[in-house]
Amino acid sequence: MSATATSYDDVVARYAPVIGLETHVELGTVSKMFCGCSTRFGAEPNTQVCPVCLGLPGALPVANASAIEATILIGLALNCSIASWCRFARKNYFYPDMPKNFQISQYDEPLCTDGWVDVHLDGSVHRIEIERVHLEEDTGKSLHVGGATGRIHGATHSLVDYNRAGIPLVEVVTKPVPGTGARAPEVARAYVTELRDILRALGVSDVRMEQGSLRCDVNTSLSPVDSDAWGTRSETKNVNSLRSVERAVRSEMIRQAAVLDAGQRVIQETRHFHENSGESTSGRSKEEATDYRYFPEPDLVPLAPDAGWIEQLRATLPELPSARRRRLQGDWNVSDSEMDAVHNAGALDLIEATVAAGASAEDARRWWLGDLSRRANEAGVELGELAVTPSQVVQLAGLVAAGRVNDKLARQALSGVLAGEGDPEQVVLARGLEVVSDAGALGIAVDAAIAAAPDIAAKVRAGKVAAAGALVGAVMKATRGQADAQLVRELVLARLDQG
Ligand SMILES: [Zn+2]
Repeated sequence: MSATATSYDDVVARYAPVIGLETHVELGTVSKMFCGCSTRFGAEPNTQVCPVCLGLPGALPVANASAIEATILIGLALNCSIASWCRFARKNYFYPDMPKNFQISQYDEPLCTDGWVDVHLDGSVHRIEIERVHLEEDTGKSLHVGGATGRIHGATHSLVDYNRAGIPLVEVVTKPVPGTGARAPEVARAYVTELRDILRALGVSDVRMEQGSLRCDVNTSLSPVDSDAWGTRSETKNVNSLRSVERAVRSEMIRQAAVLDAGQRVIQETRHFHENSGESTSGRSKEEATDYRYFPEPDLVPLAPDAGWIEQLRATLPELPSARRRRLQGDWNVSDSEMDAVHNAGALDLIEATVAAGASAEDARRWWLGDLSRRANEAGVELGELAVTPSQVVQLAGLVAAGRVNDKLARQALSGVLAGEGDPEQVVLARGLEVVSDAGALGIAVDAAIAAAPDIAAKVRAGKVAAAGALVGAVMKATRGQADAQLVRELVLARLDQG
């Protein structure tokens, strides 16, 4: 479908979005969900398989207790109720990377239900309600070979790797989230970020989006702003970075608005997100639950975690990200919205490490949220991917504090650090970036500036001290910004009898 170009502002003026997120988390257990096979990432294809995870006849599954514990921990951290009794279910569908032709999952009896998580944006709080957290097994991985794109279209043949089949997978499903308006894409991103941070704090997964251990499906629908009914939703799959969660919601809102504007209806379907273009393309039309012929898994006993076990697990919960942020906010003495800015820039760990390495909280925030954020944005990477360490930021701040470089020179030194020229100290020496505060050397430049602008010099002599700024500027320019500006000012005023 060719969509007419519609601006995002125009879309949100006329349509209200409802979003929903389904996040799959590969647990970091040593062995798979229903057998003893290793879960190690990156092994030779089909070397971590056995009769159970290959679905060979007669093989029987046994549930992995560590995976159940991890799922309960996730549920508790997301403020869910934990079922005292629940069952696994078979979800029947044919897919070549699923050797049993069904997936053991949970259907109407999930382990955790009805939770919530708060996400913070610019000082405002959005509560995201969690519908369910359930446990299932991952599928294998198909590799389509011979085509240009790596997708099935145009491929000559496909290969399947079952190493991933049977790895424990937790699915966290939100309730629909209405009311976020123009901020829907940012709220979606902030939610996935918060969820990732919670999972990381729990230590239950390595949450590497780029390796697929955290995968997001993003549901989006639009309805006219004056309508009470929600629109038909689409589900965008393959969203493999935090940045893409935001992009996927935004591009889907624009696409659906164009469909609705053309008087057509949005189709309930699965769409595939393409990292490079930021666009999605239509996949299959979305199945209904009845298509899967769910029934209770007959090969596994029900799960019945007793209250004592759940309370034991609750007692082991670590400090969660929201509590940690409150603690750091107090330590750093910053406002709610300043703290949200730190969090949403992905700078929390970096600033904490920079403060721990010796910088003031103010310097650490100024560097990471200022110049470094700008450079990360320009390069289209996350802050943590920049080639600079917290201890190098401490050095930079130290050079400024000692007056050896000014802000402008410090930014040049940072460019050198990012270009791999070494630590800030080495870059400053190698590039000759130090502030010149030798009165003798600067005196020559001051005399030259005065000689070049006799009319300005005369004004200063007559008492118009403000005019001295132009002479200071001329000296700074002549010294390529390396002069000690305060000293230059003193020298200019002294030369013109105003010192
Ligand atoms: Zn196995």
